Amino acid sequence: MSKGNIGVTSDNIFPVIKKFLYSDHEIFLRELISNAVDATQKLRTLASVGEFKGELGDTSVRVILDKTKKTLTVQDHGIGMTAEEVDKYINQIAFSGAEEFVNQYKDKAEAIIGHFGLGFYSAFMVADKVEIFSQSYQEDAQAVHWSCEGNPEYVMEPTIKADRGTDIVLHINDEFTQYLEDATIETLLNKYCKFLPVEIVFGKKKEWKDGKKVDTDEDNVINNVHPAWTKKPADLTDEDYNTFYHELYPAQMDEPLFHIHLNVDYPFHLTGILYFPKIKNNLDVRRNKIQLYCNQVFVTDEVENIVPEYLTLLHGVIDSPDIPLNVSRSYLQSDNNVKKISGHITKKVADKLAELYKNDRENFEKKWDDIKLFIQFGMLSDEKFYDRTIGCALLKNLDGKYFTLEEYKEHVKENQTDKHGDLIMLYAQDPDASYSYIERAKAKGYDVLLMDGELDVHAMSQFEQKATGEQGDAKNALRFVRVDSDVIENLISKENKNVVALTSEQEDALRYTFESVLPKNDKDTKVNYSVSFESVSEDALPVFLTQNEFMRRMKEMSVHQQGMSFYGQMPDHYNVVINTANPKVNVLMQQIMDACAQEVLPLQEQLSAKKDEEQQIKDAQKDIKEQDLTQEQKDAVTAITKEVAALKQQIKNAYAEHAKNEDKVSQLIDIALLASGMLKGEALAKFVNRSVDLL
Ligand code: ADP
Repeated sequence: MSKGNIGVTSDNIFPVIKKFLYSDHEIFLRELISNAVDATQKLRTLASVGEFKGELGDTSVRVILDKTKKTLTVQDHGIGMTAEEVDKYINQIAFSGAEEFVNQYKDKAEAIIGHFGLGFYSAFMVADKVEIFSQSYQEDAQAVHWSCEGNPEYVMEPTIKADRGTDIVLHINDEFTQYLEDATIETLLNKYCKFLPVEIVFGKKKEWKDGKKVDTDEDNVINNVHPAWTKKPADLTDEDYNTFYHELYPAQMDEPLFHIHLNVDYPFHLTGILYFPKIKNNLDVRRNKIQLYCNQVFVTDEVENIVPEYLTLLHGVIDSPDIPLNVSRSYLQSDNNVKKISGHITKKVADKLAELYKNDRENFEKKWDDIKLFIQFGMLSDEKFYDRTIGCALLKNLDGKYFTLEEYKEHVKENQTDKHGDLIMLYAQDPDASYSYIERAKAKGYDVLLMDGELDVHAMSQFEQKATGEQGDAKNALRFVRVDSDVIENLISKENKNVVALTSEQEDALRYTFESVLPKNDKDTKVNYSVSFESVSEDALPVFLTQNEFMRRMKEMSVHQQGMSFYGQMPDHYNVVINTANPKVNVLMQQIMDACAQEVLPLQEQLSAKKDEEQQIKDAQKDIKEQDLTQEQKDAVTAITKEVAALKQQIKNAYAEHAKNEDKVSQLIDIALLASGMLKGEALAKFVNRSVDLL
């Protein structure tokens, strides 16, 4: 028997392991099993080159709990260690500057443990005492027993061990009895060991017998030693890929849309499979994350620094021995290998999309609605990804037809170029709500796109910006315009626009009457209305609503974008457009004017006289500089302006008074609101009642 001191440069290593590494203590199991797997693989390698000539026999790694002895044992049948090797690999944790390093990284357990070969010592995070029983594969080797109670002293002695390999026995500390529970260990094994290349056995498979779960004779193997990503794509069917998907995410019900098998040898090693999941129409899809492995050992599912953010929407695995796993996150971001890996994955994903589009467009179109959100996210956040995927990014029109941007430009060019040479792409977000606008657009032979996706508004802005950028000026620009944002003639303005032919008295009659009946501009609902006139066509609705494209879109974009809350707080503004080409409007206008003539005509005469007077006064003053005006002159202007305003107000009041008894105005406004899906609650009930009365 020999005694000695563990060769660390610092006595403090044990307290550090126990105290500072506390938060990640569960990884001890991963570390011990990794060592066992390594030892097994080394033996296999030796056997394959003929250095080991004995029987390999059972090579599984076994995890054994003994609740009465309070031990957890990790047992392997690998190369084992001689006494010299234990001395060399276990006793001499001789790394320089240990204390300094440990202090620097004291709250980053993984950094210390993995990086500096402290894997084995992580056992002391949860154990008071650790024993090694090892029998080397080498002929005539003497088995060795090593034990240590969490202080720098160890005991080492020869022993007798029947099998080749190593047992690491942990005497679990009373604070960590959860590691003596089957359920805890099973969970950890499933987390870290699911795809290790050597069989990991934990107890026996269970079956139900007489209402109880009992052990069978069969070993309970935790892992799949040949996960799909380690195989050649040629050896796998689509079904194999789907099966593996569910193996990765047992709770996931949906099938993935398609997969990408990654396989890189140079300039770094990386394998893996990425899946495009069915993305529902929201961004909260990150429940299943990409898992990162290092030689089949699970490392993390936080891959944010390894793949670009939009790629984190994908599912699957990445396995690379070249990603520095045990360093800080900020370091990871600047690591050159990591950058290359990220670039490579991006390229692969874009290439795969292009390939799917090219080889089977029909199928690609079928999947488009499900992958659109992901692709838009990528295009919006990464120029390179935009350039690579713009050729297969699709637009869908209301007939369910798909186009690439270029195809769509061709499709609408002839009919939807306005008089400035701008290409206008019409779209709807809620086809039911804008039904009548869509009908009018279609009647004109225009095409309407469906843009109801979460990121569509942003995507449209990006297309517009790129189009302007390419041309270098705004000419030949591309504009997306929601089909209900203006009257159809204005959406795509052509040369021969109808002009509104109303006198100012006629306009006043309509404007004042309608304004008095409109819902009041409301601070709570944040909706504002204003009246305008358009000569649309005889058969178009007499009154309808439009909403300014720019303001509406800014508001929508502010939802996702920081620094845009200004737009978010703006009220919604609607134009109440009176279609002066509709005969009903003319009849109504005449009725209103006749009914109010007695009161309004004299007021109008006075108003026009006052206006003349106002003009004269202003004319007389127009050559005098502001600062040279006398007080008297200034007062004269103020007085006449007031009088003009007062007369206007009287006219307004007259029309408003009349409007109270004119149900048709309310009816027309309500129809307009209804056509835009904005008539609700009490207003809707009133409308229904009034409609019945009018019958
Ligand atoms: P690392 O595994 O990072 O090298 P460890 O402290 O975990 O650091 O292990 C140190 C060394 O001890 C290993 O490199 C290996 O040579 C040896 N070792 C540990 N566990 C085993 C085992 N189960 N079988 C054989 N050798 C082992």
